[in-house]
Amino acid sequence: MQSVDAYLAEILAAIRPLAPRELSLEDADGGVLAEDITAQWPLPPFDNSAMDGYAVLAADTAAATADAPVTLPVAGEVAAGDTREHRLAAGSCLRIMTGAPLPAGADAVVPVELTDGGTARVAIREAVTAGDSVRRAGDAAAPGDALLASGIRLGPAPLGLLAATGRASVLARPRPRVTVLSTGNELAAPGTPLTRGRIWESNSFMLASAARRAGAVAYRQPSVPDEASHVLAVIEDAAGRADLLVTSGGVSMGGEHDVVKAALEQLGTVRFRKVAMQPGMPQGFGMVGTAGTPILTLPGNPVSAFVSFQLFVRPALRALQGKAGGHQRTTRAVLTAPLRSPRDKRSFLRGVLADDGTQITPLSGQASHQLAALALANALIVVPEQVTGMQQGDVAEVICLDD
Ligand code: AMP
Ligand code: MG
Repeated sequence: MQSVDAYLAEILAAIRPLAPRELSLEDADGGVLAEDITAQWPLPPFDNSAMDGYAVLAADTAAATADAPVTLPVAGEVAAGDTREHRLAAGSCLRIMTGAPLPAGADAVVPVELTDGGTARVAIREAVTAGDSVRRAGDAAAPGDALLASGIRLGPAPLGLLAATGRASVLARPRPRVTVLSTGNELAAPGTPLTRGRIWESNSFMLASAARRAGAVAYRQPSVPDEASHVLAVIEDAAGRADLLVTSGGVSMGGEHDVVKAALEQLGTVRFRKVAMQPGMPQGFGMVGTAGTPILTLPGNPVSAFVSFQLFVRPALRALQGKAGGHQRTTRAVLTAPLRSPRDKRSFLRGVLADDGTQITPLSGQASHQLAALALANALIVVPEQVTGMQQGDVAEVICLDD
């Protein structure tokens, strides 16, 4: 048997990160930046108003108080996007909107809230000082300033920043494309009638969702019957369109019934092994197809497949984007009930972590087909290989499942 850590290390050592590509900002969402971004232009590009109000010379408002407002004539209006060259004459003001260019001669903006909102003349109730409510060109970033470092994951704010600096595309490692494939003669698509001996197929929905949550673009392949040549053909075809393949089922000890194993063992590029864990002992990893697409073959029991995804597929997806690190956030919490665990295997029990994160309650229904308990869980309790039991009050390591 291989240890969990040794198996993961083998996977990570074999996976090559996807090549960076120039991607539109929309396609780059969820990708990993592969260049350092520096500002090419000042941000903002020109002095502009931070408020809706009146552009003034601050000195003209010096005497303003609530009891004795200063009244100025309103000489015009500047809205955002106005391209005219405005000049403020001393002793007057211009109505100005947020984001509008500050007129030449003005040095401050009086927010409309500090005035009577007049259109021909405006009464100003408070003095402002030079620079008030003005956003100076380059005050967010000056040309040459470092904005984003290679290696960050692109999400809402970085993409917004790239657009704000005028970039329409960026060099990034894309989100990996994952194809999820289930095998089993017993599998029927949900929504279709069940006949004797069949179950509704669930793993592909679960694994595709998990892959999307982990940052991948996931496709579900219709489930494949237990016939080795058919399984091999589907896998080799899918390999051409994916950066990672994930199968479920067909890798245990059932001989020719375990078709994923039977089909891939002939290739010699995928190695099957037992990993010292529960659930999820039978595992396979290797490369398939002409491009050497990595494949992870997960056991079919739904909870085993889920745990295997968290432990091995998630880190593999990160490795495809050139990122280290593995499963979700871990924490430590106090057990509210005792639990048992097999000797010499690392076990991953389903549990509910309290809202405040201090206590963890193991769920009942810990068998590897019991998807109902998994659906209630927000955490996996990690029990080390040497530990065969833990008591109420013991502190356990916990993998958080809510992302
Ligand atoms: P296997 O790993 O193929 O021996 O399957 C182990 C168990 O998981 C069996 O009870 C299968 O019926 C079940 N199983 C396999 N694949 C799926 C799937 N895609 N959805 C739901 N259950 C599955
Ligand atoms: Mg099967």
